[in-house]
Amino acid sequence: MCGIVGVTGRAPALPLLIDGLRRLEYRGYDSAGVAVLIPASALPSPGAADPASGIHESAQPRYVLSRHRSVGPVSRLAALLPDTALLPDTVLLPDAAPAGHGTAGIAHTRWATHGAVTEANAHPHVDAAGRVAVVHNGVLEDAARLRRQLLAEGEALASDTDSELLAVLVARAQRAGSGPEDAVRAALAGLHGTWGVVFAFADHPDVLVCARMGAPMVVGLGRAPGGDPRHDRTLVASDPQALLPWTRRVVFLEDGDLALLRPEGAVFSRLDGARRRPQVRVLDTPLAQVELGAFDDHMDREIAEQPEVLARALAGRLAADGTVVLGGIDLPPRRMAALPEALLVGCGTSLHAARVGAALFARLADLPAHAAEASELALHPPRLHPDALVLALSQSGETFDTLQAVGELELRGHEVLGLVNTVGSSLARRCGAGVYLRAGPEVSVASTKAFSAQVVALTLLALKLGRSRGLPAARATALARALLDLPDALAATREACAAPVAGAAALLSTARAVAFTGRGLSAPVAAEGALKLLELAYLPAMAWPGGALKHGPLALLDARTPVVALVPDDETRAAALTGLAEVCTRGAPTVVLHAPGDADAAALATISLPVAAADPLVAPLLQVLPLQQLARGTALALGRDIDRPRNLAKSVTVA
Ligand code: GLU
Repeated sequence: MCGIVGVTGRAPALPLLIDGLRRLEYRGYDSAGVAVLIPASALPSPGAADPASGIHESAQPRYVLSRHRSVGPVSRLAALLPDTALLPDTVLLPDAAPAGHGTAGIAHTRWATHGAVTEANAHPHVDAAGRVAVVHNGVLEDAARLRRQLLAEGEALASDTDSELLAVLVARAQRAGSGPEDAVRAALAGLHGTWGVVFAFADHPDVLVCARMGAPMVVGLGRAPGGDPRHDRTLVASDPQALLPWTRRVVFLEDGDLALLRPEGAVFSRLDGARRRPQVRVLDTPLAQVELGAFDDHMDREIAEQPEVLARALAGRLAADGTVVLGGIDLPPRRMAALPEALLVGCGTSLHAARVGAALFARLADLPAHAAEASELALHPPRLHPDALVLALSQSGETFDTLQAVGELELRGHEVLGLVNTVGSSLARRCGAGVYLRAGPEVSVASTKAFSAQVVALTLLALKLGRSRGLPAARATALARALLDLPDALAATREACAAPVAGAAALLSTARAVAFTGRGLSAPVAAEGALKLLELAYLPAMAWPGGALKHGPLALLDARTPVVALVPDDETRAAALTGLAEVCTRGAPTVVLHAPGDADAAALATISLPVAAADPLVAPLLQVLPLQQLARGTALALGRDIDRPRNLAKSVTVA
């Protein structure tokens, strides 16, 4: 879940490491830390420990690991560093870096799994002698037993984390005579768990070693072929976003891979020692915007981008007659016609998109489909027909639970198609076939535009399947028109809702709890609205299909428990209005999403949110935006951090 970046080159490492951490901060923001190799001669009194800056000593070291860590955001860590440490990225000759400016280092933003959010638990961790430093994304199984064992054997430990044990194990292997690569191999070979891990070594100051098992890791090759060797640098990160300003030539590690990095390049191998031939890719991924421009936060910008995202997700994929071309999903018409069922797996927001998709597959293609929570799939593996269509959804393409579920499904012989936003991510590489969402990098932790792009992609797939399974041409054409009109309808909805959302957010910000209701296709959208509100505003928020309220949840309602009701102009409208009347009778305030001219719905609304009229099958794409705005507005009214909700992180790469 954390962000990792490392570099070994000829120029000062710190500016690049801090820039990388800023780009990855959305992956974890409990604490941040950095360690660089600096010549011992650069210390005020050579070889002396400097507890303030976290410098570690040993006998007669030529280089030492200089470490800075802090609880909280990267900006707080950056403020700890001397101004001169953040020099612009000047290229320096070897040994010509100004005193104290290491040219290799590793950095980390943490999402704590083991050990509280404290400076002592912040990464990088070092062994007691300060000769090996590690940054780690993942979880070591059996860490408690290993910790007891190491303590019993006389090792000193300074944190409560599982990650620190890695530095200790590698330092031990080094002391036993192994070089950096073999020491890492020896340490990891005996472990179970997940890791995206990078080690730095005081005794090998231009070497980094990284490895992957269940957590993403990508190496960036910064040496320009035939270029000036003074520009050499090799990088590593948990997400290519940290590498893109410096290089676009990358190698993604696979589980069980290990790489030794030097400024002039990297050598790839397997944990068992076998060499691995790297596949170098040249990324054309856009660099995520870390600047906010005119927006107050990334979520604000990403909500506003959605009309454009929808247009991009449709471009070149949908003709006016309803013909759909999805390059990555090449299902012959006969196979589509014969599909017995479909399963869609995901977590969180992706699961809600999967539920919309399952409903659309059933309606447009008469294909029995259901959505499954990825983290539960291994426990209750569904009995699927061997020819079932299986899809895995993930914005980041790195979601641990989803990748595990894909593994389970593959073991059962299913080919899994991916619906992924991040090009080159683990899920995209693993699935081989599927659809890219084209939402562009999503930075805010609460997903918004990726949901919309997922639902569009699933609507297109449902339409494509439908055309092979008897969907009348006229219906396909009408739906195509509705989809092509969506970007404008969404922009109009965003505009029309801005003012009423502010009133609704003020109402919700004084709530005890909030209930969301929607039926049919609107049910997963209501669930998504509740998830957005609870993750951003930290308010208890639950969603029920409208008909379920009277079977229990009505007991919750009072003047401080508002109901957010979705009343689209479709076959659920009459029942939704009845349910809403029952809510009003119990004295709960209501926020109602309805078509602009729906006087019956408006009469039952404390606050109305107008959603542009459209084909009912595209309604989820219009309803979700006001719900995103509502969650953001409520969170703002409560003084929450919009882009960094507490305890969460984007890209959930741990179990
Ligand atoms: N398990 C490690 C810790 O709690 C790493 C967590 C992460 O991936 O950020 O420090």
